[in-house]
Amino acid sequence: SGKWTRAMAILREFEEKCRTPTSKLRQVADAMDVEMHAGLASEGGSKLKMIISYVDNLPTGDEKGLYYALDLGGTNFRVLRVQLGGKDARVVKQEFEEVSIPPHLMTGTSDALFGYIAEALAKFVAEEGEGFHPAPGRQRELGFTFSFPVRQTSIASGNLIKWTKGFSIEDTVGQDVVGELTKAMERIGLDMRVAALVNDTIGTLAGGKYHNQDVIAAVILGTGTNAAYVERAHAIPKWHGLLPKSGEMVINMEWGNFRSSHLPLTDYDQELDNESLNPGEQIFEKMISGMYLGDIVRRVLYKMAEEAAFFGDTVPPKLKIPFILRTPNMSAMHHDTSPDLRVVGDKLRDILEIPNTSLKVRKVVVELCDIVATRGARLSAAGIVGILKKIGRDTVREGEKQRSVIALDGGLYEHYTKFSTCMESTLKELLGEEVAANILIEHSNDGSGIGAALLAASHSQYS
Ligand code: ADP
Ligand code: MG
Repeated sequence: SGKWTRAMAILREFEEKCRTPTSKLRQVADAMDVEMHAGLASEGGSKLKMIISYVDNLPTGDEKGLYYALDLGGTNFRVLRVQLGGKDARVVKQEFEEVSIPPHLMTGTSDALFGYIAEALAKFVAEEGEGFHPAPGRQRELGFTFSFPVRQTSIASGNLIKWTKGFSIEDTVGQDVVGELTKAMERIGLDMRVAALVNDTIGTLAGGKYHNQDVIAAVILGTGTNAAYVERAHAIPKWHGLLPKSGEMVINMEWGNFRSSHLPLTDYDQELDNESLNPGEQIFEKMISGMYLGDIVRRVLYKMAEEAAFFGDTVPPKLKIPFILRTPNMSAMHHDTSPDLRVVGDKLRDILEIPNTSLKVRKVVVELCDIVATRGARLSAAGIVGILKKIGRDTVREGEKQRSVIALDGGLYEHYTKFSTCMESTLKELLGEEVAANILIEHSNDGSGIGAALLAASHSQYS
């Protein structure tokens, strides 16, 4: 019928706008490389903040002793302790605990939040048992993973720029978050020193490097997306401090904020951005990450329902609700292998309250999921190639067989198989067989917690 033709026209037009041929991805990778240079040249020189992390030493495997870590970045925080045994013994023992944050503390006072965290940490420290050996006469040391925007001022200090993810505590903004935590620990008599302040990307990079010395970058694909990598210190013009002994510096790219005229942006992306909490910001993130993919699919379905009666004569009301279709549900539909696409039918019925969909309709929904996921995965691969270009690892050099490993983590990468598979094959497509043979993606499962503890070890006051 005419309606079906019209619906398919909407789908095909969207597909066309989302196309990411190799040539376009190369332009995206080049643009990433250019913006990385610009962000390193001067403060505010690019949409990419290219934040200097003050991490100039990554774990080597020689780390020894008992270290703690605290991971705060959402509605839960994790405390962790690890006994490191050096080169041969590695991680001798490890324990962690997850603690949820009562909602009223997310919008209360700084003292109340950090007080609560310090109490939980003190309780965890008090339970330190067999197999953990604090060095006599030494203070316990902690790596603090704090995944909110911070203006870093040293390896163990940084001022909160703004809260995100539902936190809103006015009196913390502008404060040194390590100072806030340290004060709270002092108030309750917990004798512990924060040796390193990092975010989840840098934690993942450190955890990944400990596991495999060829790790040179880390990428998070979860609710949001970000990347960190090891840069040569003399390639950072905006750095006016002393050159670190290692000659290296870890850079937190904040790549979610990347944007370029080469990105295949559609009207749906534009509308999603306009209606978001941060219009004009995090454009790369809004095309790639788990918070948004499902909602892009919803927006196209809505258009097809409204303009082509795709789901019948009335537009299903639920389809109007932003973020009602979450990425894990999109992923479940995309992976449906049943002959009648039963999972797709169930999701459409249960989430969007659209009953009795035909197989023909379900197939279109799967195709739409594929278009959105494929674009996100291919753009992620282009971003990684941009990093490899920046550090000169996108080619094979004469007589060199240098391996480069990228540590990946995050729920999207971990659970959305079609996404991660596509990302990895695109990486090969862009790099070519010979180079790709030396580039490896490694899943760094929750490396960020242990990474922070390892960074506390390498930045210990005693080492
Ligand atoms: P965060 O990024 O919030 O620290 P995670 O790394 O665990 O947390 O990522 C969670 C995100 O991963 C979710 O918001 C969701 O978008 C995505 N995700 C989780 N499970 C799946 C799944 N099965 N399929 C696709 N995406 C998923
Ligand atoms: Mg996370």
